Amino acid sequence: MTQSLRKSAHRTGTDPARETGDHPAAEATRASSPVAGLALGDRHDSHGAGIASGAGTLPVLDALRRQVIRRSSEAATMNLGGDDEILPFGGSAEDAAAGLVTWLRDKAGDATNYTVAVHDDDLYITKVNGVTAATALMGQLKTEIQDNGIDKSFNVYLCQKFNTAAPSNHAEMCVLAAVGEANVGDITFLECTAPSCDFCDAVLTHYGVPNTSPDGEAASQQGWVHPFQTLSFGTQLGDHAAQVTELTNYLADPTTAIVLGRTTGTAPSGRMTHWL
Ligand SMILES: [Zn+2]
Repeated sequence: MTQSLRKSAHRTGTDPARETGDHPAAEATRASSPVAGLALGDRHDSHGAGIASGAGTLPVLDALRRQVIRRSSEAATMNLGGDDEILPFGGSAEDAAAGLVTWLRDKAGDATNYTVAVHDDDLYITKVNGVTAATALMGQLKTEIQDNGIDKSFNVYLCQKFNTAAPSNHAEMCVLAAVGEANVGDITFLECTAPSCDFCDAVLTHYGVPNTSPDGEAASQQGWVHPFQTLSFGTQLGDHAAQVTELTNYLADPTTAIVLGRTTGTAPSGRMTHWL
């Protein structure tokens, strides 16, 4: 319920017309309810009318009981009920993201590494070199999100490449670039369907981004590009461990000389689209 309001607040913040359209009706319903002071919440429209016309001797207690029943059903993470009323996802954004990672892992296997992250209660989804609504599996994922009411509680963004001139825009870095360097400290969840590579690990660790991706070695990486700088590494540039060390030192001290990496190319620019 709070998540629903939060997403609603996001939207009304950028759409004054919606705000003036929504609130008078909600206030009117609240005013006519005998349990107005009990904060029936944002989904009380149809139920509220029944409570108000009920002839029970204890309408307030009755309303409370209904409210408890409804809240407990919303706490469930899966909504298997009717298609005409899918309730907003009742858990946290991180809960929703973790469920989507599991879903993607089951569907995609090891073939593609997807990343799901949470920043400021918004969900970010991508894979290596980014995704759009037209990318394979996104149609099924959209259904999964909607069937669980996740889109009713949170905004969902899809991230694209941040360095269009380079291949190997790793999924984790697509998320960081989309969020922006100044905001990566506000990422509260990030998990991939497969292990992160050493370069991504170094960056995520440097910025203190929580990463609950599986342990283990990442699949073979041809290359890697920095989400905020014109800096890239790759198998053709020399010893892998030495390159990771160079990146780690550079992150700690930007005056570190880059010997193995490449610093040419265009500056990266994060990109994302509001999907749901
Ligand atoms: Zn990586």
